[in-house]
Amino acid sequence: MRNDGAQVATYIERERALLAPYATHSEATSGRDYPEPWHPYRSPFQRDRDRIVHSSAFRRLAHKTQVFTGDMGDYHRSRLTHTLEVASIARTIGRELRLNEDLIEALALMHDIGHPPFGHAGEKILDACCCDDGGFNHNKHAVRIVTLLETRYPEFPGLNLSHEVLAGQQSRYAKSQKNNGPPVLLEAQVVEAADSIAYDTHDADDALELGLLELNDLLAVPLWRDAAAKVRQRFSALDTESLRRAIIHGLIETLVSNLVESARSRLQELASRSESDFVKSGPRLVAPTAEIAEQKRVLESFLFERVYRHPTVLSERECAEEAVRVLFEYYRDRPDMLPSKFQGRVQADGELRASCDFVASMTDRFALGQFRTIEKSASVD
Ligand code: MG
Repeated sequence: MRNDGAQVATYIERERALLAPYATHSEATSGRDYPEPWHPYRSPFQRDRDRIVHSSAFRRLAHKTQVFTGDMGDYHRSRLTHTLEVASIARTIGRELRLNEDLIEALALMHDIGHPPFGHAGEKILDACCCDDGGFNHNKHAVRIVTLLETRYPEFPGLNLSHEVLAGQQSRYAKSQKNNGPPVLLEAQVVEAADSIAYDTHDADDALELGLLELNDLLAVPLWRDAAAKVRQRFSALDTESLRRAIIHGLIETLVSNLVESARSRLQELASRSESDFVKSGPRLVAPTAEIAEQKRVLESFLFERVYRHPTVLSERECAEEAVRVLFEYYRDRPDMLPSKFQGRVQADGELRASCDFVASMTDRFALGQFRTIEKSASVD
């Protein structure tokens, strides 16, 4: 349903001039589930990005845990600020590789929209609670949100996003299930790589700020040690906090530059062989060099042992898991207490999924408030 007006031609021409042949061009989109006329001056992927930003699930990311709960301070990343860091890093990589930045931004802003309250702790409990109904996975749930649960437009359920955006999100789920799904768009590969760079670096930064780690602890990690040595060469007398921030900045720069150079050389090699189809159907091309990939793995193992399994984090996680379990069971057993939007899902999908949808939609603070109210009324009974 393409409208070939003069303004539509403008953004298509701009993409033809700026994007690489192997980028996902708007004019090649396979469209939406509910066909819509083309917008006169916003490309399809710009519209997708805007629909995601205006969704209620996106706004709620502001009050959802990334790794550390709100009770632990106000410096560390929330799920929303993590998402914005991913989008920022992904756009930088995408521009350098001449990929479609609008599609990259839509995918980045959407990538964690399916997270329940309390991050992976909430996900683990909902998955166990829904084990008789296909379980719960935040990547899969994101697709359910944007195709069904968001209700912003009278013409269709969900956000009616472009098929390329849905495919990008579905590829995250396929990867988490270790399935070889269809070829992964380069723009989706960029977002996945940017996600990994963002959490590796900001989880270290947050853990240091929260006092879960000391700066010297990280010197056991080669990637960190190299970044620290470079900073010390440039600045001989930094205080601890300034040193930490300079190392994080240097680390992101190193990881992004390595990724761009590594992906660019793979893409150029394939393009020179006129194998543009292979570019989209081949193995992951947007990835760091083998040496940096190994160093990242060492950093991630360190963070897993020393941060994600830190006693303070584990104890917060246990409280969160209990709250999510109680909330899920409460609404599963009393579907008439669900808000009307979710009551409407009971007939179609059953009490289990409707309760899961509602609990997954909650922010941390709303979930805790509901949990305390339920506990209080149970103690009065
Ligand atoms: Mg993420």
